[in-house]
Amino acid sequence: MAPSRDDNHLPAVTVKSQHGEGHLLHRSLAQKPSMVDSAHGIELKLASGQTIIDACGGAAVALIGHGNEEVTQAMVEQARKVSYVHTQAYTTAPAEELADIILEGNPYGLEKAFFVGSGSEAVESALKLARQYFYEKNEPERLHLVSRQQSYHGNTMTAMSISTNQARKAPYQGFCYPNVSHVSPAYAYQYKHDTESEAEFTERLLAELDAEFLRVGPEKVVAFIAETVSGATLGCVAAPKGYYKGVRALCDKYGILLFLDEIMCGVGRTGTYFAFEQEGIAPDLVTIAKGLGGGYAAIAGVLMHEKVVDVLRQGSQVFNNGHTYQAHPISCAAALAVQRIVQRDRLVARCAKMGQVLERRLREELGGCGTVGDIRGRGLFWGVEFVRDRASRETMAPGVAFGARVQQIAFRKGVAVYPGAGTVDGVRGDHLLVAPPFTVTERQLEHICRVLREAVEEAEGCLRDESECGLA
Ligand SMILES: *Cc1c(COP(=O)(O)O)cnc(C)c1O
Repeated sequence: MAPSRDDNHLPAVTVKSQHGEGHLLHRSLAQKPSMVDSAHGIELKLASGQTIIDACGGAAVALIGHGNEEVTQAMVEQARKVSYVHTQAYTTAPAEELADIILEGNPYGLEKAFFVGSGSEAVESALKLARQYFYEKNEPERLHLVSRQQSYHGNTMTAMSISTNQARKAPYQGFCYPNVSHVSPAYAYQYKHDTESEAEFTERLLAELDAEFLRVGPEKVVAFIAETVSGATLGCVAAPKGYYKGVRALCDKYGILLFLDEIMCGVGRTGTYFAFEQEGIAPDLVTIAKGLGGGYAAIAGVLMHEKVVDVLRQGSQVFNNGHTYQAHPISCAAALAVQRIVQRDRLVARCAKMGQVLERRLREELGGCGTVGDIRGRGLFWGVEFVRDRASRETMAPGVAFGARVQQIAFRKGVAVYPGAGTVDGVRGDHLLVAPPFTVTERQLEHICRVLREAVEEAEGCLRDESECGLA
């Protein structure tokens, strides 16, 4: 059923589900997503005739933009050569070369890559590998995982268990992996006390982590898991200075593995290839996904440190976790083509440089908006957090759904950003994410930030008078 543009200008239009409407289950039975006819560069062309500037790359996925001809060619050629073989008996050139281009020279001691089809699968695989590591080291009592409040690591059972998105977890109480606990997020804007310095905040977070390890019994802990720069849940929040150095030291003290989930913030997004490079530490396990295939294929990777590989090498020699579609040749060919373009065109450096432009523009345009409490991020990975009161950082009532309103208005004006809610504690808080392709131009960034300001101002107008806008 085609929505009428006249009486409803929202992009995702509420349509009562009707029989005969189609058999694809969308994310909601009540909301119909927009049909996309084509996508090139930073633009999406909708079936409605509207053109959208994709300022968030989906969910920070599209790092070289859409419709790249070189990537398309590489996928077609690979499909002609070898479309699929089972990894028990075979390997293919794009799978080998993809692992090599990422791990050439064992950066930060990372030696091997394992490729699967989604971020959640990668997290699940990394957790199983961490457990197997201790099983092979004859430390079978290690079964406990420590992660952080306000984190997202995926939707499969264990990945969901270490995440804290209450809305996504609610139906599965009692259905999760039980040996998990969560410490505070490294989220200064809402969690640092006004009387505390940054160093004192870091110290408090590290003392809490240490206390949690000791409460559980450090000899029972498998891993500490964190998004190096928090993604969708908090909206691009980097940890305070010294946090990861301290985390690394605590993990080393107790022989606990450090697993950094860089599914959203990795592959150049923060201005360095790995987000952890800016923290002066190296993890034992890393997951990457969104930027790995850049949207051209469903692919994710687990990268493991030599120390983890060595234990397998001296033990069973087998990672006890196979998938039919692991290291899929066409997916790997797509990701390889994307990574080659990133290297050849120095797109990580470009991301760092354009990130400075984005930061300046965001601050210029949004800095004066009364509802904009915080603007934070790294590279081309920026979050804008909305509050009711800038001095107290008090959030808006959850029902207001301010981030979603801004997103909807911006979308109507032709710019797509990624909204989030429950920023502070899963219930309170609103933010949105700006994460354009690394190929974005200064003019496009200018346009994106101007539209964003207009959208924020319009949404602020709605707060004052619901009857003034069509979003009530
Ligand atoms: C998106 C995301 C995941 C899950 O990846 P999927 O491909 O959606 O399964 C896991 N961790 C982080 C940090 C993410 O941003």
